[in-house]
Amino acid sequence: MTHKEKIAVVVGAGIAGASICLALKQRNIKTILIDSDTGPAKHASGNPIGVVYPFLTKHKTSESEFSLDAFRYFLSIWERFHLKNLVPHVDGIYFLMDTKESYDRYSNAIISNQIQNHIAKESIEPFSGSPALFFPEGKSISPVDLTKQILFLSNPETKYSCKLLSWKEEENRSKVLCQTSIGEIECDYLFLTQGYQFADDPHLEWLPLRKVRGQILKIPEQKPANPFGILYGDYITSAIEGYQVLGATFDEFKLEEEPRLEESESMWKELFNRLPNLSNHWEPENPRLFATRVSYRTQSQDRHPIVGKLPNISKLDLTVKYQNLLRNANKKMNIPYYKSVGILNGLGSRGLTHSLYSGEILVSSMLEETIPISETIFKSLIPDRFLIRMWKRDQLI
Ligand SMILES: Cc1cc2nc3c(=O)[nH]c(=O)nc-3n(C[C@H](O)[C@H](O)[C@H](O)COP(=O)(O)OP(=O)(O)OC[C@H]3O[C@@H](n4cnc5c(N)ncnc54)[C@H](O)[C@@H]3O)c2cc1C
Repeated sequence: MTHKEKIAVVVGAGIAGASICLALKQRNIKTILIDSDTGPAKHASGNPIGVVYPFLTKHKTSESEFSLDAFRYFLSIWERFHLKNLVPHVDGIYFLMDTKESYDRYSNAIISNQIQNHIAKESIEPFSGSPALFFPEGKSISPVDLTKQILFLSNPETKYSCKLLSWKEEENRSKVLCQTSIGEIECDYLFLTQGYQFADDPHLEWLPLRKVRGQILKIPEQKPANPFGILYGDYITSAIEGYQVLGATFDEFKLEEEPRLEESESMWKELFNRLPNLSNHWEPENPRLFATRVSYRTQSQDRHPIVGKLPNISKLDLTVKYQNLLRNANKKMNIPYYKSVGILNGLGSRGLTHSLYSGEILVSSMLEETIPISETIFKSLIPDRFLIRMWKRDQLI
């Protein structure tokens, strides 16, 4: 059977699900995208404006290498599919290095990661007067339009208001049966991208993922508006279609949906504090009256995305203890997998930058193609890393 005759089901029409659909489209695999909501990008991927730029570490690490590759991959898709004409955005992001520590970290990151000027360069951000990294091709962007355009290019069969209730691999493991709120769907591959609703799926319960509350403000375009997005702990985006976004406060513990007006106020005050040469020109505003959006992102224990074939923890041989392994070098932990089920989750606060590349990596690994990254980076992404860690600590029940 060729790829063409196979059917993939993608669960979740956020930026992660859309990215997988694009990777599947490039391989001509028939794809059904389902989402329990009424349309795409209604949850974490539904903010009015977000920022795209890579995550850097002082020394070269799997995290910074992955993030830089993901950013370059994003730019290649952006170019190839002419997304600049289709997705509202403004180019250019400043990342302030206004403490000794942050200057030390990020100026060294440029050297250790051998970053070229067109990706990032040292600069001075004019409204704060502070040293900064400038990402000329970083972007303030509409995540909703980005998701919709990627879906438009991928053209999957879509089923909205269709919730995945349960799934199982057939005994002979050739098909996956999905029970949904509108009936059964049989497929050859299942891709899970349920975002913060991962916990509804009992197959994912063991993964160390957390739901994190985030709050942003959608403010009318200020005069003058900053021409580039600025990150200073919080962030203020460039203006798109008459609005800017001021973000974000995050909370892992209290997750209520109601806006916290005191947080809106403190974000606004902090903006005036940090960017006085910008905000002092603005008309007085009451930040408690700005539109507020609360949404939830998913964060893994090590804050790195989870991308790969899903281990089948119910088939794990728990008699093999890590300690036994040390005593008897012949024993190793054999990780059983669901043959045709992959996961992309834990995108944290970088989903816009990381998802297209993660989708490509996931699909190429599920189809047993050559994976476009080094083994070290791949190992830092696959869900197995948590299983091995838990096994070493004897935390698997
Ligand atoms: C306040 C805030 C600000 C952020 N700012 C930025 C930013 O500036 N830059 C950046 O890169 N990232 C940012 N992020 C992170 C980014 O938004 C996320 O990483 C990304 O949107 C996650 O996408 P996703 O597709 O995994 O999840 P989601 O967009 O949440 O999509 C998951 C989808 O799965 C569907 N679903 C769930 N369960 C089921 C089921 N059982 N059946 C069917 N469908 C189901 C849901 O309806 C949903 O549509 C921000 C996040 C937050 C919360």
